[in-house]
Amino acid sequence: VPVIVWFRQDLRLADNPALHYAADADRPVIPVYILDDETPGHWAMGSASRWWLHHSLKELGKALRGAGTPLVLRRGKAADLLPKLIEETGADRVVWNRCYEPYARERDEKIKSALNDAGVQVNSFNGGLLVEPWTVATKAGDPFRVFTPFWREARQHLGRVDPLPAPQSLSAPETAIASDHLADWGLLPTKPDWAAGFEPVWIPGEDGARDAAGDFIDSRINSYADDRDRPDRDGTSRLSPHLHFGEISPRQIWSAVSHACDGVGRKDPQKYLSEIGWREFSHNLLFHFPDFPEANHQDKFNSFRWQNDDQRFKAWSKGQTGYPFVDAGMRQLWQTGWMHNRVRMVAASFLVKHLLIDWRKGQDWFWDTLVDADLANNSAGWQWVAGTGADAAPYFRIFNPFTQGEKFDPDGEYVREFVPELAALPAKWIHRPWEAPDSVLDEAGVRLGTDYPKPIVDHSAARERALAAFKDLKSAA
Ligand code: FAD
Repeated sequence: VPVIVWFRQDLRLADNPALHYAADADRPVIPVYILDDETPGHWAMGSASRWWLHHSLKELGKALRGAGTPLVLRRGKAADLLPKLIEETGADRVVWNRCYEPYARERDEKIKSALNDAGVQVNSFNGGLLVEPWTVATKAGDPFRVFTPFWREARQHLGRVDPLPAPQSLSAPETAIASDHLADWGLLPTKPDWAAGFEPVWIPGEDGARDAAGDFIDSRINSYADDRDRPDRDGTSRLSPHLHFGEISPRQIWSAVSHACDGVGRKDPQKYLSEIGWREFSHNLLFHFPDFPEANHQDKFNSFRWQNDDQRFKAWSKGQTGYPFVDAGMRQLWQTGWMHNRVRMVAASFLVKHLLIDWRKGQDWFWDTLVDADLANNSAGWQWVAGTGADAAPYFRIFNPFTQGEKFDPDGEYVREFVPELAALPAKWIHRPWEAPDSVLDEAGVRLGTDYPKPIVDHSAARERALAAFKDLKSAA
């Protein structure tokens, strides 16, 4: 009797507890991926993520075929399709690795109880986190809202540290099972091909994830603590989309880092693994506060007077604000489906504080354009920047978009790459071209207002406006 392995955010063979369990059962294995756009509602996968998914499923399909059993693709509501697949195949057991999004938890609970009622066994596993959210709590038994004590506690509960091997071989069911064709799902852009810039940057899939992790650990982890804030250097691991889709697990990363760095005690591996810790923390927040992506965590912000100006939002999303560091970030996002963390913070802060646009509008834009769009990390990132979240930057701490650029992209190389119309400007002016003398602009061939916009808001005035709006909020409270 076959076992169904329902793949979701665990698109890999190695260190996959659900697949491992099925392989060990020594029965035919039916791996299935269901593209369900209905159940997640507003959080159905965005466009850039679909590009990634297409390529990742292609790789997963190849790997499973190589191991002995083909991947079955189905599109529709998981709660309807799984029972159908069980009926078709006679499977009596379904296994999966757990997801933590509120809609996914609700879906999984319902499916599990319906299947159990029908006599089908369901087993779920932890394949995606080092520490699941219900394992750590404060002394008072409450969920953690502050990162440092969370991480200190979480590290005491790491549990199993050795990743599981990929199954050597899997047996296929005797009769072939109907599957959709990936190409028919329309996950790739047609015209215009906005993903053309993704191809040179990313190799989705388990092999790509392993290579990216290996490359980072071999050549860059030892300068991570210093380089991680520098978008002009290739200082971070860029594993975020691989982690989101589960092409690599945090446990595999932990183990590889600790082997390569002879433990995790030194500054650089420590710092790197604490970023993996922020991922754990974000999942912890989403689990305990399921409205995190929709509602201000601090409800005093519910009466904040956002000024949702469409023109300004458009300028921000297209990288046309007149602030080169922000614009470089927004264009990096559009071109490559990813943005450096430092620039995410500055660009998000610019939207929320300089333009007074609701963080949820920015969150939606990121959701559609990031290849690593992740409900837990995205909502935690936005609420942190907006000052509305748990353990967030205080609202009155407003990033200065040009001094941030000068500090973290001192030669202007990052801006030159993504805002090529400013490429000939000297480093001294590249982050604040509006202050450059006419002769410098002339020489660099930059006509402000024509080739590149003048700032859409004045920094000091915008800063005062944001502080005044925050003060109003406090006095209203
Ligand atoms: P590295 O520095 O190499 O870090 C390794 C891994 O740790 C990352 O891959 C990621 O999984 C995790 N990580 C690192 N920083 C954070 C963080 N601050 N919060 C949570 N996890 C972290 N990350 C996403 O994966 N998906 C998102 O949708 C997302 N949206 C964000 C929105 C905003 C406004 C902000 C400020 C941050 C957001 N982040 C998000 C977090 C962070 O920017 C990215 O994880 C990071 O830039 C990915 O690059 P990397 O893999 O090279 O990171």
